[in-house]
Amino acid sequence: MTKPLNELTIAEAARALRARECTVRELWDACLRAAEARNPELNAYLELFEPDTAAIDAAQRRIDAEGDNAPMLCGIPLAVKDNLLIEGKIASAASKMLENYVATYDATVVRKLKDAGALFLGRTNMDEFAMGSSTEHSAFGTTKNPADTERVPGGSSGGSAAAVAAHLCIAALGSDTGGSIRQPAAHTGIVGMKPTYGLVSRSGLIAMGSSLDQVGPLTKTVEDARALLDAISGPDPLDGTTIGKETYHSVSVPERLTIGVPRALIEQDGVHAGLRKAFTETLAKLEAAGHILVDVELPMSPNALAAYYVIMPAEVSANLARLDGMRYGHAARGKTLLEDYLLSRTEGFGAESKRRILLGTFVLSSGYIDAYYRKADAAREVLRGEYAQAFAACDVIAFPTTPSPAFKFGEKSGDPVAMYLEDVFTVTANLTGMPAISVPMGAVTEGGKTLPVGIHFTAPHGGDELALSAARAVETAH
Ligand code: GLN
Repeated sequence: MTKPLNELTIAEAARALRARECTVRELWDACLRAAEARNPELNAYLELFEPDTAAIDAAQRRIDAEGDNAPMLCGIPLAVKDNLLIEGKIASAASKMLENYVATYDATVVRKLKDAGALFLGRTNMDEFAMGSSTEHSAFGTTKNPADTERVPGGSSGGSAAAVAAHLCIAALGSDTGGSIRQPAAHTGIVGMKPTYGLVSRSGLIAMGSSLDQVGPLTKTVEDARALLDAISGPDPLDGTTIGKETYHSVSVPERLTIGVPRALIEQDGVHAGLRKAFTETLAKLEAAGHILVDVELPMSPNALAAYYVIMPAEVSANLARLDGMRYGHAARGKTLLEDYLLSRTEGFGAESKRRILLGTFVLSSGYIDAYYRKADAAREVLRGEYAQAFAACDVIAFPTTPSPAFKFGEKSGDPVAMYLEDVFTVTANLTGMPAISVPMGAVTEGGKTLPVGIHFTAPHGGDELALSAARAVETAH
């Protein structure tokens, strides 16, 4: 084997394990050693777990006994975003509020992966409660972008993205409420996917915006994203919004894809020129490979970001209300019950969480709910209609994943609106429930550094396989 073990993809590692080119223990050790060496610099992991010898041995026995019939994820070391519950481990959502909170049960995705024999290396850094686009809002320090350590890895799943990109694990899980898997994937040069809403259970995911959240894969290749998605998806009695796995295959995949390009949106100011060039070149390669490009119009799309930044904080304010210093998490005590609440929440939450709780409480308050929340909610239906119309003429819709490449630390953290604009191309998939994926489309050079950039495909509801196929087409087009 020419590549170091930690640099393998899921598919390569699964094959190597079955061919006895390495053992589960060797694969684990290679990832752990890489993580121990580079994590002090990158801060991708908040915690690296002790090796679970029983799980490592069980995975090895299963591969030895079942060979190709063993699940593909068996024996594969993964990183997990710190908002997913692993029984007996801390799940802090990178917040002081849950700094010492130990999960009492496994998230459904974690249980499914354990059943498949996957291993967990550690929990990864993120923006507090998944709110942000840079991982600068973590209570436990920033994560560096492996491509340029002066820059952010994106967020909120920045730790998972950096861990995969720097080969400190084979693959990782993240969560995506408005782009938090796809945007850091783009900024670090890996694949990140938000599945159709309901395809993956949210049970055991610390909720941010319940109607928007989905767990999904961050991987080195599209093939790996498919494998990891396959392992975590499916209906779950613990999450009433989950849908049957057949939905995943409900849209057929043609050999030649028709790709819709909303040129008017991409040509607007604010989209980085180098990134636009990479996007145009990638589309040209897809066309040369036999795929068909068509223009589509999405006139309501510029309003998606505004709708998202009303609906998401409304749901955040409701979901974070449970963190009151009484049931679990940070608990400060004053002289009265009200003081207990105020102190616990003042000390426990960071600035961005507070901003969104205030915003959300405001848009839900009587007198404003009609003007803000209900209007934003109605916009979701309009966006769904607009996309349904666009999908009459194409299989997938292409955007750059982000308007610009990874930015420097501090560049946007003082200006919340500039940070929110990072999500301009990603939030619609969450508002409408559609699947979307980011896949690398080369790089741009900035300040002498080569910064990866991503192309983003949105597919119709249930068209996860279509999104994956479009991403795969980018990997293979030259
Ligand atoms: N960047 C977006 C936000 O700050 C998305 C977050 C996410 O997807 N969790 O809300």
